[in-house]
Amino acid sequence: HKGQTLQIQVIPYGDDQNLLISRDISQLERLENMRRDFVANVSHELKTPLTVVSGFVEMLVDDFDAYPREDALHYLRLVQEQSGRMQHLIDDLLTLSALETGSLTPLDERVEVPALLTSIRQEAQALSAGRHQISLVCDGPPVLLGCANELRSAFGNLASNAVRYTPDGGRVELIWQRTADGAAFTVADSGIGIAPQHIPRLTERFYRVDRSRSRETGGTGLGLAIVKHVLTRHQGRLEVESEAGKGSRFSACFPALRIPD
Ligand code: ADP
Repeated sequence: HKGQTLQIQVIPYGDDQNLLISRDISQLERLENMRRDFVANVSHELKTPLTVVSGFVEMLVDDFDAYPREDALHYLRLVQEQSGRMQHLIDDLLTLSALETGSLTPLDERVEVPALLTSIRQEAQALSAGRHQISLVCDGPPVLLGCANELRSAFGNLASNAVRYTPDGGRVELIWQRTADGAAFTVADSGIGIAPQHIPRLTERFYRVDRSRSRETGGTGLGLAIVKHVLTRHQGRLEVESEAGKGSRFSACFPALRIPD
């Protein structure tokens, strides 16, 4: 069949007969390809900043006195920025790997949603530095059962994406509300939006619509992969509605069993 890989083993059987054993290894092959792509992506993502860091450090070490103080400081700031980028990537990789192996804390903490969302809004405001109008509506249940750290990371990623993919002067709304079957945290922005063909792939590791915009704004390409894992662990789901040039709505939806009486 198309897209299927079979492994065929031929075993001599009797005088002039063979036994054919066929195994469908398509799934194994797909996993192996994903693993290879992932390693290639991580290496590439680390290599770019590392080249900048080693280049400037080498320059300064070779002839430190040749550079005026301001120039040297400028180079060191670039080194600092790129080290920060590597740090951020490694933090996200560790978070993702802990989520995948399920080695994090249990999911039965009583998370106070209003306090969590107030601090998510403050972080988004700090990232926006006054360039966006950021509002918060907190109408949903006050407590959610789950892992506070994981939920903070998921909600924080959705809010920071909204700021990063919305041009200056735009709006970002954070909304916590009840739904027909539980509750949802929605982040709506008036930003660049996403064309429909990209939407199904957004939660893949390192999938980005616009690589350079993601990098310029400090993205690692792992944010939505983390969000998806966190939601799956909480029996929830991610809903995305978006229109290119108009804006996006990302909703983290939770079932009623996550809301205590
Ligand atoms: P990144 O670090 O690149 O932002 P994410 O996994 O968080 O990685 O997001 C994957 C991609 O989805 C982004 O590179 C971007 O193209 C797109 N994206 C995510 N959030 C938004 C948004 N609010 N508006 C427009 N595009 C978005």
